[in-house]
Amino acid sequence: MNMAVGDADIEGPAAAGDRLFRGLRAAGRAIVDYALPPRCPACGVIVGEDRQFCLDCWSSLHFLDGPACALCSIPLPTALPGSPVTCGACMADAPPFAGAPSAVAYGRAARTVALRLKYGRRTGHARLMAQLMARPLTALRGDAPMLLVPVPLHRWRLWSRGFNQAALVADALTRLTGDPHDHHLLLRTKATAALRGKGRRERERIVAGVFALAPDAKARAAGRHLVLIDDVHASGATLRAAAKALKRSGAARVSALTWARVVPDALMTGNIFDFADVDSDILDQRMTG
Ligand SMILES: [Zn+2]
Ligand SMILES: [Zn+2]
Repeated sequence: MNMAVGDADIEGPAAAGDRLFRGLRAAGRAIVDYALPPRCPACGVIVGEDRQFCLDCWSSLHFLDGPACALCSIPLPTALPGSPVTCGACMADAPPFAGAPSAVAYGRAARTVALRLKYGRRTGHARLMAQLMARPLTALRGDAPMLLVPVPLHRWRLWSRGFNQAALVADALTRLTGDPHDHHLLLRTKATAALRGKGRRERERIVAGVFALAPDAKARAAGRHLVLIDDVHASGATLRAAAKALKRSGAARVSALTWARVVPDALMTGNIFDFADVDSDILDQRMTG
């Protein structure tokens, strides 16, 4: 973590060149910023400030801060606020994490931001997502010190994309809240097919056993509250598989925090009473991210 210590003391020609390059790049960015006014990250209309939604997109975001399942955070509109309740799906098959909040429900604006970060290389969107994820992260805070663990990509995927969007969000959260992150605690040992369009059982089968712990994970995780970081919580198959691997580290607690949660519309309006029947199979067909 402290590998850069000492670099500034002896500055060779390479470091000076690097500094010059960074300076030129910053100047270039300033010119681009001047030429290109800030735009809404979801719909692209010009807005007053960088990383700010326009009014329409902002009001379309559905913040998930109402009564919810204590384990998977699916909204439970009929539950009393503050009472620890569990949804039918978690009662039938408890997830391996102690909580899984998301900042917002997966909708038009939330989806666009996540897709633009992932496929459009809008890496600045990671900071925007982190800004809205900081509050649910704080709500997860307990006695054990937190360690943010981004859901890893397989190295082939990392090479082809050039970055892991979950790791960028974890970095941005660290800058906002001061909670450290560890990008190498959890490894993805197998490349998997895209989960898009697959049913829940199929997703679970695909991700089973793809995550492993780093050899020294036990020492790094001891006494910590590990918080998995990812962009979208859809069926939860990936988060469950990753959390299951993290639990083997002997950490004090394992939770999962995501930017957006796929929630059936009916749950948002409070018309559904049997949550166990509302499962991700129907949602998967709508998922495009
Ligand atoms: Zn907008
Ligand atoms: Zn639940």
